[in-house]
Amino acid sequence: MAPRLVAGGHTQQVSVPDVRRLHLKLPALAWRGRRASLVHVWAAKRDVVGMDAKSAVQERTLMQRLGQSFNSAGIALFARVALSDQPLSLPHLSVADLRWIDWPALKAAGFHGCVFDKDNTLTEPYELELHPHVRDSLAECSRVFEGRLVLYSNSAGLQQFDPDGKEAAVLEAALGIPVLRHREKKPSGGSEDIEQHFGCKAEQLIMVGDRYLTDVVFGNRNGMLTIRPAPFTSRGEPKAVLLARSIEEACAARWQRAGVQPPSHPLVQSAAAAAAFIRHPDAWQ
Ligand SMILES: [Mg+2]
Repeated sequence: MAPRLVAGGHTQQVSVPDVRRLHLKLPALAWRGRRASLVHVWAAKRDVVGMDAKSAVQERTLMQRLGQSFNSAGIALFARVALSDQPLSLPHLSVADLRWIDWPALKAAGFHGCVFDKDNTLTEPYELELHPHVRDSLAECSRVFEGRLVLYSNSAGLQQFDPDGKEAAVLEAALGIPVLRHREKKPSGGSEDIEQHFGCKAEQLIMVGDRYLTDVVFGNRNGMLTIRPAPFTSRGEPKAVLLARSIEEACAARWQRAGVQPPSHPLVQSAAAAAAFIRHPDAWQ
């Protein structure tokens, strides 16, 4: 998929009930004298306990996923955008994935760091591994910006869903990117935490995320350059997210056809200047 320039090893899931079943099995196995099986079960139990933190991230409860999917403040804000401020929902750049982004060109233009969404931007939804298409580009981004990257998620690091930061810590270990602890879901919230983290103004930062409703509106509201990669897959996304995604994509496409432009940005003077941030596939690493 060509970029559209706009101006301006799966982990096996083991649940808590599985652990309980192992506890119930142990006395019965010992009574039968099945020593070999007992050792096997103990080993399995040890493995289960060892992967608690990781499985905790991947085994969100249904209620957590529903809560994460329903973003009432975001919907209300998007309604306001639709009625009176459509440019806020349009990214400065749209790309197929991170490989199209020329990080050195962005650095040369005066940007100091990057803020990333996670699901369908760096990983498939609810997965802990970088998507193969972004791995090299993200490493290059980190080199270019000397590690000044942060993940800003509507689940990990968000006070509502991750109050003790456990999920954020697991993601940091898995992806190698700091996860910002914050209190408000995108697109709500200001840039104070982000500016404090990076030590620069939000307009010197780049917001990269696949959702118009959350990532793009959040980045534009706070004066960042916004880049929207296409999502990797709809597999695993809750129905509420699929519905919201289809509505916001239809709205964005309609407004773009009507000639609506994203907000102007002080470091990007024109569409031609923005074109310099797109990399030809021959240059992919
Ligand atoms: Mg996303």
